[in-house]
Amino acid sequence: MIADLAELRLKRTPLYVDADFQESQLSVKSKIARLTGPVHCNLKVSLENERVKVEGRLATVLGLTCCRCANEFEKSVDKNFMLTYVSDPELGGNGDEFELEYDDLEVGFYRGDQLDLAVVLTEQILLEIPMKPICREECRGLCDQCGVDLNVGTCDCTRELTDPRLATLAEIKKRITN
Ligand SMILES: [Zn+2]
Ligand SMILES: [Zn+2]
Repeated sequence: MIADLAELRLKRTPLYVDADFQESQLSVKSKIARLTGPVHCNLKVSLENERVKVEGRLATVLGLTCCRCANEFEKSVDKNFMLTYVSDPELGGNGDEFELEYDDLEVGFYRGDQLDLAVVLTEQILLEIPMKPICREECRGLCDQCGVDLNVGTCDCTRELTDPRLATLAEIKKRITN
């Protein structure tokens, strides 16, 4: 969905969007995350002094893969955001010179009087994907030797301590006790 800035400029009223975006309309491509349903959004797009302000809220459910146990789990996302977009200076925009202020932390760029709202939403969703998703804090993960899910079962593998310093300690301990 494209916000037509020429039209916004002409009408002088904000554009309100209340819509569901499907996964096929967005490009949330990640090995560890996917959308389990549509992304519902409420947006207000307004233009002021050639700056586009996008205020809104989005809600969806992400399917994430736990990095410890490899099980899929769901995470609800419901966030409010406020973003500012200015004409891409590399393209010359409308010829106006401007300098970004230091407090413009959330500034993006638009090109050719168009702002693709699907891109705006995709960026906001990608920000919600954790680097290392964990299904729950106490997830015990998989046994690194036999692969059993230690959340649901146990195994007889002796898990060696991986830290070499600790391994040495363990070795010393073993010698003392034997
Ligand atoms: Zn897990
Ligand atoms: Zn095991």
